[in-house]
Amino acid sequence: MYKVIGHKNPDTDSICSAIAYAEFLRQRGMEAEPFLLGKPNKETEFVLKKFSVATPEIVSSLEEGSKVVLVDHNEKGQSIDNLAELDLRGVIDHHKIDLKTEKPISVLIQPWGSTASIVADMYFQEGVQLDRSVADLLLSAIISDTLFFRSPTTTAVDKELVKRLNEIVGIDNLETYSLEMFKAKSDLGDMPVDKLIRLDYKVFEFKGGKYGIGVMETTDVDYALKRKDEILAGLKKIQEEDNLKAVYFVVVDILNSEAFVLSSDEEAKKLFKNLFSAEERGEGVLFARGLVSRKKQIVPRFEKM
Ligand code: MG
Ligand code: MG
Ligand code: MG
Repeated sequence: MYKVIGHKNPDTDSICSAIAYAEFLRQRGMEAEPFLLGKPNKETEFVLKKFSVATPEIVSSLEEGSKVVLVDHNEKGQSIDNLAELDLRGVIDHHKIDLKTEKPISVLIQPWGSTASIVADMYFQEGVQLDRSVADLLLSAIISDTLFFRSPTTTAVDKELVKRLNEIVGIDNLETYSLEMFKAKSDLGDMPVDKLIRLDYKVFEFKGGKYGIGVMETTDVDYALKRKDEILAGLKKIQEEDNLKAVYFVVVDILNSEAFVLSSDEEAKKLFKNLFSAEERGEGVLFARGLVSRKKQIVPRFEKM
């Protein structure tokens, strides 16, 4: 039995890719099951509900020796807690590689806009039966991770695969559908601030130390700006508690392709301002036009520092 898992603080891509890849293995006669390392966000909930797909089981560890495949991540820090005790068999991902293994495993990494693109491509390349419900999830995950092709992570492959998947799915207006997804993602109610910051949150080791970067992709920037003071306090708290050099919260305005950035302290703010030539937008807020991708824009810039 292969257990397919996405990353912590799961997003639509990691969840849909895990479900779709487990199904791919089953179609090829293997036993496989997807698992999640956390609750789906509002966008993923919307997608699963729309296509009547059950939410996979949420776990924080798996039985020792379980055969696992990681999707949409390959860094230990983003993975299941007891990864060292598991039998890692494979990785399917679209992030930079930071992976050490004890034995050879199968690794499939493509510089495409989503892991779902890689999984969809496997279905098409190998002629594996692709049911409509799986095609729905893959299509939605590509739209989510590429911000419907607005993100600089988007490739021609992603666009071609969305076209092919939609021949199976048959959504009339993809633009309208993507707006529904983004709206669902933006509907956060009175979510506690710590949860808000960690909704799509990753820790990176750069030259200066460990940095936490939370991203909120939204069609409603004002929601975050109204909660600015609370978020600033939350960032400071996480910085101290997790002993980080700095923590950032990047509010990405999906429709306008720009970002508002909050930092855990003054020094962190200065650093970000310099690295990204950001402008001050009122007390404690930085603004960067064209900044939408942590993976392709933010992390590489910090790594060059
Ligand atoms: Mg992801
Ligand atoms: Mg992804
Ligand atoms: Mg993302």
